[in-house]
Amino acid sequence: MNYFEGYRCGNCEREVPAGSAAGECPSCSGPLLAVYDLGILGRKVTRGEFYGPGRGIWRFRELLPEFSREITLGEGNTPMLEAPVLAAVAGCGRLHIKNEALNPTGSFKARGMAAAVSRLVDLGARAAVISTAGNAGLALAAYGAAAGLASRIYIPSVTPDGVVEECTAYGADVRTIDGILPDATHAMTGDGLGEGEYAISTFREPCRVEGKKTMAFEIEDDLEGKSPRWIIFPTGGGTGVVSFWKAYIELEELGWLEREKPRIVAVQSEGCAPFVRAFGSGADSVERWKDPVTIASGIRVPSSRADRQVLRALRETGGTAIAVSDEAILDSAYVMARAAGIFPSPEGAAALAGLRKLTASGTIGPGDSVVIVNTADWTRYRFMLDGVAR
Ligand SMILES: [Zn+2]
Repeated sequence: MNYFEGYRCGNCEREVPAGSAAGECPSCSGPLLAVYDLGILGRKVTRGEFYGPGRGIWRFRELLPEFSREITLGEGNTPMLEAPVLAAVAGCGRLHIKNEALNPTGSFKARGMAAAVSRLVDLGARAAVISTAGNAGLALAAYGAAAGLASRIYIPSVTPDGVVEECTAYGADVRTIDGILPDATHAMTGDGLGEGEYAISTFREPCRVEGKKTMAFEIEDDLEGKSPRWIIFPTGGGTGVVSFWKAYIELEELGWLEREKPRIVAVQSEGCAPFVRAFGSGADSVERWKDPVTIASGIRVPSSRADRQVLRALRETGGTAIAVSDEAILDSAYVMARAAGIFPSPEGAAALAGLRKLTASGTIGPGDSVVIVNTADWTRYRFMLDGVAR
């Protein structure tokens, strides 16, 4: 039995049927969000059954759209590692690192792409097309290969070494575009879509968010209902933040939370902080950040198609948005390596840098439980080793 009902636009609330090929709202181009019949789900399935046996993201299929074929490369089931030494260094209470580096293709993008590619297979797609800072492209290339779906990937020239070659190894058609992510998106738009081709860039299709919700479900399962006070997530386009927000709203409506929903923190780089600026000014949408510069390419994203949803997520949960310097990102990578045994991606290091800044300001206290997410594997960012003598 499936409880998926269709999609609703996050901006204008227009409803879109479950089997629709629309990737974004036909009225306002806003992000489509999946809707479930939580009333029936809550009567038919217990919390224990939802978190029951099984592995990977598809064990949570009651809160995922229904697909005839669930594409998988073994995504999900990533470790929730308690890090007491790092907690003492950072000055917070119980601290866990959700290590998404252990996903297929080395990042949390795998979760979303498993669901997005499954949807495209059902739609009879011939090819998926994406503009990406790197990790989403890798995930698409791999999941597309597994599903027999062609992929065309627009990647900015500033992407870390090896990403283009690896995407090509999976058989993807890779176009390297001079500049940064918006330049790659511009080139993708200029080329247009052929017959049977679907764009699945961030918030241009609805299922990447759904797949990523399973991060929250795994955290809840691993902590046995003892939800953390804070979840700290490095934020570019915002699918991660929206995923956590949506997952916790669904769990709350089902009555499956024992504690208050976690406060969600979006960490950005000082060189590219559109959400931090909008959050601080009280705005309900984001102005594009000019000339984004940061070593953390995964969060070098100057705007978002789901800016309103991200800002709501931060405000409704009592969270915040915080910017950290590249220097703090590099320093935090070594702090995490030496106090937790995990050398993170620059984005994962940014999450720790955000935590340290929030404990220093007293926003997060020594009694507060925290989860930080290391979103990706560090090995594609060899420059992170340049500071190893520090
Ligand atoms: Zn709309």
